[in-house]
Amino acid sequence: MTRPRSTAIVGGGWAGCAAAAQLTVAGANVTLFEAAAELGGRGRRVALELDGVTHTLDNGQHLMIGAYSAIAEVLATVGIDIDRLVERRPFELSYPDGFRITASRLPAPWHLVTALLGARGLAWRDRWSMTRLLRALEAARWQVGPDRDAASWLAGHGQGDTVIARIWRPLCIAALNTPLSEASAQVFANVLRDSLGADSAASMLWLPRSDLSALLPEAVERFVSAHGGAVQRGSRVETIGPAENGFLLEPGLGRFDAVVYSAPPAQLGRVAPAFAPVLSDALEAIRHFDYQPICTVYLKYDVDVPLPRGFTALLDDAGQRDYGQWVFDRGALDPANRRVVAVVVSASGAHDDEPLSALCDAVARQLTRELGFPAPCAARAVVEKRATLAARPGLQRPPNATLVPGFVLAGDWTHSDYPSTLESAVRSGHAAARLLLK
Ligand SMILES: Cc1cc2nc3c(=O)[nH]c(=O)nc-3n(C[C@H](O)[C@H](O)[C@H](O)COP(=O)(O)OP(=O)(O)OC[C@H]3O[C@@H](n4cnc5c(N)ncnc54)[C@H](O)[C@@H]3O)c2cc1C
Repeated sequence: MTRPRSTAIVGGGWAGCAAAAQLTVAGANVTLFEAAAELGGRGRRVALELDGVTHTLDNGQHLMIGAYSAIAEVLATVGIDIDRLVERRPFELSYPDGFRITASRLPAPWHLVTALLGARGLAWRDRWSMTRLLRALEAARWQVGPDRDAASWLAGHGQGDTVIARIWRPLCIAALNTPLSEASAQVFANVLRDSLGADSAASMLWLPRSDLSALLPEAVERFVSAHGGAVQRGSRVETIGPAENGFLLEPGLGRFDAVVYSAPPAQLGRVAPAFAPVLSDALEAIRHFDYQPICTVYLKYDVDVPLPRGFTALLDDAGQRDYGQWVFDRGALDPANRRVVAVVVSASGAHDDEPLSALCDAVARQLTRELGFPAPCAARAVVEKRATLAARPGLQRPPNATLVPGFVLAGDWTHSDYPSTLESAVRSGHAAARLLLK
């Protein structure tokens, strides 16, 4: 096809925003349609009332790493100084009981060597087994062989209980949002390749200083508008149908030369019924998708509850109803959220059956036990039942290209060797834009 003059982007999550920025840079005339009142999708700010005060928080605590190169690229494109909005620190995994592993700022592989040498609470045999595993992966070009679940793969590489419970399991759940016993070993290895296996900058943790909407989606909206494009928030695309040499978007949203579909996969068949026969492979893959939840419990205290490094891993133990996996001090990043912490409970588990008030109580008690925090004065849980795709072995995700000329797909559910993350969403938006610009 020839380069499109007008392009509709359907869905203003991070994938749609990335596509909008890239197409705008290339001179396309972009219109971004977002059904909700705000851009950002699953990566957006929410206003939550806690103890009579409205706090600006996120619909889920997000963590990023230095390997998220596509996010760095899109931030630069829309003129965001990443160091102003993101605090970058060496990789660190620490627990309230003193267990700690911290990478240094030395070049690879010394950042990891020093991390393992200086680890606190890790037996020498565990340091050695971790080193062996990472070296074996590197030698195998980060391929695990036939894919299988991460738990049996780690056991097959002689990883002991402590190193699994304290290091591999929390990293796998944080990155893949899938229990270790179900998670794809290959997708986990891909994440390790680009983080612990890469240079020290790639393994850095990125802690956003702003809420997620301010970090990217709002900057994209300013950028697109300033370059002659349009962003229509509160504008749900009901159907995408064929038009002469293009597409007609209803209700009455106009005719476009090309479309980036970056709304949820489950809606694709209903929104684009005229193309369903041609999109049958993508629709078939989508029918087999399975999702995993993430719950973020926000707790507010009436005294200071400092976390020395701003966040820490927790020893979750479902048997004890200790469901929290990480706790972040939101006040350390934004003083307006002083005395508010966010506790992450990723992936499905025993907590799924708890009413939200009981989940909040259980998490508050866990923080009392592990960190000595007092009882909170307010608590709210934000649950996303379909937070990400379950990253299981054999998961098929459709490619960005389709057989409909000028119609491309984007979203964290499209083909990627990464799990469903902000980074895979942004990469998919870039890939979709590149296809239209070819
Ligand atoms: C609680 C939680 C925690 C997470 N933690 C992390 C993390 O720590 N690190 C990380 O990298 N990732 C994390 N993720 C995953 C990350 O948020 C997602 O991978 C990413 O936001 C997906 O972006 P997307 O653009 O693909 O999809 P979405 O964000 O789902 O965007 C789709 C957009 O389409 C819009 N839409 C729907 N229907 C229509 C329509 N008919 N017309 C127009 N618009 C429509 C929706 O409103 C939405 O804005 C987390 C997700 C959740 C929910």
